[in-house]
Amino acid sequence: MLNALARSFEPSAISEVFSLAARLKDEGQDIIDLSAGEPDFETPDHVKEAAWAAIQRGETKYTPTEGTADLRRAVQGKFRRENGLDYGFDQVMIGQGAKPLLYRALQATLEAGDEVIIPTPCWPSHPGMVKLCGALPVLVTCHEEDGFKLRPDALAAAITDKTKWLIFNSPGNPTGAVYCAEEYRALAEVLRSHPRILVLADDIYEHITFTEDAFVTFAQAAPEMMERTATVNSVSKGYAMTGWRVGYIGGPAELIGAMRRILSQSDGNPCSVSQAAAIAALEGPQEVLAERREAYRRRRDLVVGLLNQTPYLRCRQPEGAFYVYPNCQDVIGKTTPDGKAIANSRDFAAYLLEAHGVTAVPGAGFHGDPYFRLSTAASSDELEEACRRIARASAELS
Ligand code: PLP
Repeated sequence: MLNALARSFEPSAISEVFSLAARLKDEGQDIIDLSAGEPDFETPDHVKEAAWAAIQRGETKYTPTEGTADLRRAVQGKFRRENGLDYGFDQVMIGQGAKPLLYRALQATLEAGDEVIIPTPCWPSHPGMVKLCGALPVLVTCHEEDGFKLRPDALAAAITDKTKWLIFNSPGNPTGAVYCAEEYRALAEVLRSHPRILVLADDIYEHITFTEDAFVTFAQAAPEMMERTATVNSVSKGYAMTGWRVGYIGGPAELIGAMRRILSQSDGNPCSVSQAAAIAALEGPQEVLAERREAYRRRRDLVVGLLNQTPYLRCRQPEGAFYVYPNCQDVIGKTTPDGKAIANSRDFAAYLLEAHGVTAVPGAGFHGDPYFRLSTAASSDELEEACRRIARASAELS
């Protein structure tokens, strides 16, 4: 029944862990789930109210595929105000989250056999989408000692005459790595002599950074790259609106036009009510962003501190997003109390879940081992208890 692509397509490691955790919870086990990639906060009240007002006004019909004019103008304003990026009206469009926009941008440009450079550890959907387009993800390992960031020499070495895109994700999922303007400029310098390479900046964790310097996006740091950069963002993470499904993109008008044509045949427009809510998120009070950023910072400090007191684990302090990515090299080769050998991060994550009720996503899922990802989008009590269990689990290894 299935074609070759569907037959060879692997499920995401995140959804595997999520399903296993759901089954164990269903069986009545006491599970602390730190596998999810979504804020535990509520969507702000003024955003919910804007959605209700839109329903009452009858904004419950189709909108243009590329999104309502009001939301596109709000997105233009956001890019100008927060990122110093001046996109024309025909250079922005709305999608059903960042995810379909990333995919359609790749789909509109990739030919079979083209290559896309993806620094790893990475969000699994980036290489997944490239494969769906019949192109080749070129995974470039970024090392912990480099802050999990792409080095200019590694970028230069990965470029071939088939390279079409380079994908950045800062703050990064799963590492929390954040690029500064200088780092982006050094990478742009490498790209200068390869004018056909496009850059996709996935800025979805923009509002969750703990660095002293303000967040900077690639095209802002390297304005000469603006014409070949697509900047993707969404209201999902910053405004705790994962379920509303609204993302947006700014990029060359030719690309945006092609994406609009594709989406008009496939997905159609994003939800009209969610679009009204997204205007309120982008243009309404922004204090909630700073409050939540501080909460994520406190949780990060708590978890990193506790994990660094745990036998065999080492945890670097992430500069952004709501994940920690501890190094579990030293548990490899150990044995669990019931005699199972830990050969990799997958075994360790399975042991944490089955014996101690904590869900973590193994690094293999992010093309980055030997690590595992924990989300800090949970209460301090849950995070403390999870760290206690992880410490007990590690101490029981022999
Ligand atoms: N990009 C990254 C790096 C993510 O981690 C996620 C979600 O986990 C997305 C994009 C998807 O965002 P959206 O909810 O806007 O589709």
